[in-house]
Amino acid sequence: MLFETNNIPIQELDSRLLREKNIKVKVARLDKIHPVISGNKLFKLHYFLEAARRHKQPIVTFGGPYSNHLAATAYACRLTGLTCFGVVRGEQPSALSATLTRCVEDGMKLMFTPRKEYSEISQHPGARNMPGVPAGSLFIPEGGYSPTGAKGASLIMDMPAALDASFIVTALGTATTTAGLLQKVTAAQQVIAVPVLKNLTDIPGRLLYLNGKPANDNIIVWDHYHFGGYAKKTQQLIRFMNELYEQHGVPTDFVYTAKMMFAVMDKINAGFFPRGCTILCLHTGGLQGNQSLEKDQLIF
Ligand SMILES: *Cc1c(COP(=O)(O)O)cnc(C)c1O
Repeated sequence: MLFETNNIPIQELDSRLLREKNIKVKVARLDKIHPVISGNKLFKLHYFLEAARRHKQPIVTFGGPYSNHLAATAYACRLTGLTCFGVVRGEQPSALSATLTRCVEDGMKLMFTPRKEYSEISQHPGARNMPGVPAGSLFIPEGGYSPTGAKGASLIMDMPAALDASFIVTALGTATTTAGLLQKVTAAQQVIAVPVLKNLTDIPGRLLYLNGKPANDNIIVWDHYHFGGYAKKTQQLIRFMNELYEQHGVPTDFVYTAKMMFAVMDKINAGFFPRGCTILCLHTGGLQGNQSLEKDQLIF
């Protein structure tokens, strides 16, 4: 691992509601591992980086203009001295997003690609001979979506706090993190996935591809907390983020972790969780994405 992951801070939330219901909510602050390679991205990249370093391969990866994955990959490559290329979805804008500006500062070479072409090459990366990319480069699919990414994500389950949790909750984008958690979950535990995209109907197929076998019944998917779709938000969500920060000092990002935490709190209120249970919420990082919000929306 590029950074120390043996001491991930675990933050237990305290409120009257939680005490009354006798439910423990712990937040595993993967976001605190590193400000840029934060959260689950470090884990998903782990085995890719290991292979690229061993064979001194340049890295090619894919993402949108606000992609946490691109930001993490660029930074990791700078640290490890690897050349890296970021294939960015869409035409080159007149001004780069904060995320892409960082990527460039970290030495990533950006290749803007019209949407249609992007969806073709990002889905069949290794198969393409891309102009400008050295032969023998290592391709990392968008979001690390691959069995290699899932294997890396499974390392998240090695933290001691995962042992005594009845439920382990994560936001779900590509399902790679969820797949990794499922690799190590025990029969007494459940993984809860909160998709942040609308109409993500192919989760079973994704898990099958990622883990090479279908998910058993240790998974619960709550698919109505996407707030309108990927990177969509409402005033209710922003208000929730500010309240969560005010009450518990947990900053979240509006694309992933806020929707996950909202879902957990909503389900606690609705009586979903049994008394005496421990819920481990994964703070998968992504805080850099809040830079795309208008100023003054968030109190943190
Ligand atoms: C990328 C990302 C996710 C989604 O993880 P998947 O493995 O793609 O499901 C969740 N949270 C944050 C903060 C992310 O950046």
